[in-house]
Amino acid sequence: MGGEELSFIHDAFNSNFVAPLGENVDGFETDIAAFTGGGNVAVLSSGTAAIHLGLILLDVEPGDVVICQSFTFSASANPITYLGAEPVFVDSEHETWNMCPDALEEAVRDQLSRGKRIKAILPVHLYGMPANMERIMDIARRYCIPVIEDAAEAMGSHINGKQCGTFGHLGVFSFNGNKIITTSGGGALISDDENLIQKSRYLATQARDPAPHYQHTEIGYNYRMSNIVAGIGRGQMQVIGERIRQRRANYEFYRGLLGSVEGITFQPEPEGHFSNRWLTTVLIDPEITGFTSERVRLSLAAENIESRPVWKPMHQQPVYRSAKYYGNGVSCKLFKHGLCLPSGSNLSGKDRERIAKCLKETIFESATVSV
Ligand SMILES: *Cc1c(COP(=O)(O)O)cnc(C)c1O
Repeated sequence: MGGEELSFIHDAFNSNFVAPLGENVDGFETDIAAFTGGGNVAVLSSGTAAIHLGLILLDVEPGDVVICQSFTFSASANPITYLGAEPVFVDSEHETWNMCPDALEEAVRDQLSRGKRIKAILPVHLYGMPANMERIMDIARRYCIPVIEDAAEAMGSHINGKQCGTFGHLGVFSFNGNKIITTSGGGALISDDENLIQKSRYLATQARDPAPHYQHTEIGYNYRMSNIVAGIGRGQMQVIGERIRQRRANYEFYRGLLGSVEGITFQPEPEGHFSNRWLTTVLIDPEITGFTSERVRLSLAAENIESRPVWKPMHQQPVYRSAKYYGNGVSCKLFKHGLCLPSGSNLSGKDRERIAKCLKETIFESATVSV
């Protein structure tokens, strides 16, 4: 926590706004809008809820197609299924590890030729790295398909100063416990289109018509953020800059440690892209290093240090085994060789020493590599 969160929560208690509305909800929305450089913001109960509402606002209905990045967390894709629509998965590019524009265009063309209605394109800024939004938006404009950006992991990341979440028609943030800033659980929807955001607030509060009694002409949801939780968010917005510096410092630490090891490469940050480096991720090519990413993970685990494999692509998930996929295996390769290194904002000097010692031992033990 940053320090000021509890005082915002006390304000909520003192005013007795212990509800999904109040000053903290409004204040958190204003803070996010200011931080991202404008736009309209609705804070919600989770990032998943934000994606779900976003797809509803884009009129996604049963039988429609939504084109989604395959290399992501399941919460990007599941709301497509909630709506009875069909997720069509697209591979990653090497340059950002995110949605490959060429595979996207192939997917759009092929799906249209099969007479499918493509209602949205859903790229993800994985581990904080901005996707190739220039080319993705160009394709979206040429085919008149709206874009909903999953920026759940990428608050504060940008391309030449334009913040992730503000490229598409809608953007999504998450404040789950593991994200770069957290409200324990929460999310937000952001858009230039004020009407869309107003509608999202209405749908998120059970779609009540303006009448003294409870009247509904549409199906609503209970997806609004509480005023208590939003108080945590306001406190966190005061430290987001610091969090990004800490996460990027983690990345610099690992670069110093592993940057010259042959066969180990980092998630690239192309020219103009700025990643919040939410997690530092590496690819380990065992044919060059002589050891696998799983070997490194287990060595760290033996020292009670947690690291994790990267996201398993959606088209390889049992639950999406029958979904259509376009690409040539980049995301499968990322999954095979990728590892998320310990990346908490609070990694201490002592933590780093332990991690460095363990990583060096693993690398030195392997016969084929010299450091
Ligand atoms: C965390 C996350 C979500 C979901 O956000 P929640 O707030 O946990 O519901 C969606 N997409 C990605 C890429 C995420 O990392």
